[in-house]
Amino acid sequence: MVDKLAKTGEGIAAEAAGGYTAAAISLAGDEWKYRMAEGQRFFDSPAGKVTAVIILVGGLALAGWMIWGATHNEVAAAANTRIFVDAATGKPFKVDISVTREIPAPAPSGGKTGYPAELCFWTADGKEKSEPTAVLLNSDVGKPGPTFCPDCKRLVVGHNPRPVPGARPPPTEAEYRANPSRFRGGGD
Ligand SMILES: [Zn+2]
Repeated sequence: MVDKLAKTGEGIAAEAAGGYTAAAISLAGDEWKYRMAEGQRFFDSPAGKVTAVIILVGGLALAGWMIWGATHNEVAAAANTRIFVDAATGKPFKVDISVTREIPAPAPSGGKTGYPAELCFWTADGKEKSEPTAVLLNSDVGKPGPTFCPDCKRLVVGHNPRPVPGARPPPTEAEYRANPSRFRGGGD
């Protein structure tokens, strides 16, 4: 009797009303299998195959567009990002120069005390480091004298060169003070 009822929609109502929940669940499972099979048959038909291809191509196009959009925006953002130093705190912060065009730029401390940083890639013992120190040049804030990196204590100049293989590290403050004329000309 349960099997026979399970074949029809009336059966669901009858079984549920009768409290034969297990039979109703089994029927729901059969119904699901039936619909899956129906879907399978649809996608096997010519119209179904076309639909499947459209869904697939549409999905790939959407995915591609999303990936392109994400990377494109990242690349654009990276190209427009510069490290500035907040002269009030000495701390570095990032500036989107496609948005902020004034120097000094608005800085995290609240005032317009942001200046483009020079990047120092040297360590105190004259080795290259991967994470640069953002340095505020004295000349940017009207201070006299050369600028030395707060981290490695080496000379930092405008357009501070990145280390290249075999390059001598810039002089430390002590080396510079011992013979300033030797190091002048590269910066200010
Ligand atoms: Zn340094």
